[in-house]
Amino acid sequence: MNTTASSTATTTGSSTATTTAVDNAPSRTIELALTAQQQETVARSTIAGEASDLAELAARAIRETTTGEFSRLPMPATTRRKSAWRDDLTTSPGIERELLEEFVLEPSTGRAIEMAAGEVLRLEQIEGSQCLDFNCFSLADYREAFHTGRTRTLHGINPTTGDFLWSAPPRERAMMFILADSVGCNDVLFPRCSANMYESVYGFTRHTNCADIQAEAQREYGLTPDDVHDSFNLFMSTEVVDGMPRIRRQDTAPGDHVELLAVMDVLAVPNICGSDVQPTSNYSLKPVLVQRFRASEADLAAVPDLWEYDSQRAPADFTQPRIRTERALHRDPSYVPAFLTDAVVTSVETVELDPETAALFERMWDDGLSARYGARGAGLRDVLFSWWAATHGH
Ligand SMILES: [Zn+2]
Repeated sequence: MNTTASSTATTTGSSTATTTAVDNAPSRTIELALTAQQQETVARSTIAGEASDLAELAARAIRETTTGEFSRLPMPATTRRKSAWRDDLTTSPGIERELLEEFVLEPSTGRAIEMAAGEVLRLEQIEGSQCLDFNCFSLADYREAFHTGRTRTLHGINPTTGDFLWSAPPRERAMMFILADSVGCNDVLFPRCSANMYESVYGFTRHTNCADIQAEAQREYGLTPDDVHDSFNLFMSTEVVDGMPRIRRQDTAPGDHVELLAVMDVLAVPNICGSDVQPTSNYSLKPVLVQRFRASEADLAAVPDLWEYDSQRAPADFTQPRIRTERALHRDPSYVPAFLTDAVVTSVETVELDPETAALFERMWDDGLSARYGARGAGLRDVLFSWWAATHGH
């Protein structure tokens, strides 16, 4: 064992660069400030046999970072378990799609559609080039809703076939699966267009807009305009140019479609985007065909396995589970903070590197780490956890 836990310098909050006595000379001895949860990470790696101790783990990170030869290492056991979402569904062999509902969504309108898990919503271009905004709520709890941010992080700004629509933290569950997408032209970068957007940008005091159309469609289920959330924008072609989101004309034809399969019971709310003064729908407003099906066996089989975790929290797990009805905010005088402060207590570990590894690390230090960090300990922590994330993350 080359590692010794030494002087426990406890600070809560930030774990910034460590000042050590050995910073001015190439040295095999480096002091590393680690939070309790970083210490736990190291302990998990040693228990898994990735290294015998912190010094060996650091040496492995330095060597593999130098060579670029990262091995994928298994995630440690977590609370993960396979979701049983499709177990209750009719999955008899050979079962075909069954049309349950069909209608044409006209310009300036939207519709709130109840969907059971295992149903498919097909949105199909009639004339072509029409954008649809789409909201999605858990039918069992409207506070669980589609989240563009989580979806964008996992699937990029243009989700397509094979991607999921996810709910916001702390729920973070898959809500719908993109079963088919004939064009690959969807967006999670732009928020819904709104009345004020048209007035403030273009001077219209009255203009069709997705926020108001969504609000009116959702009113059938008692939701308020505040409950409209940022949308999944179907058939909306977007890009980022010089850090700014841009809308492009779209190139969709009659028959082009997106199919969304519900993996929980949802209220699905598509609407015809109200923009006829932007390239979103090529400067016109057109109807779209909407169909709801009971999924076929093949549809259900196309959805990859989903996993459930204890960290996907429901109201029963919340410290404050009650939905407020009073609009003004007032401080709770009995409030006591309950943050995870013990997880960020920092202690300093002394790491001894063998001469060969120390020389590799010195090269890293000279090649860039020293420009970013004031102390070798902070640099070594960067190397260690960059390696850890690259080898253990999904
Ligand atoms: Zn719109």
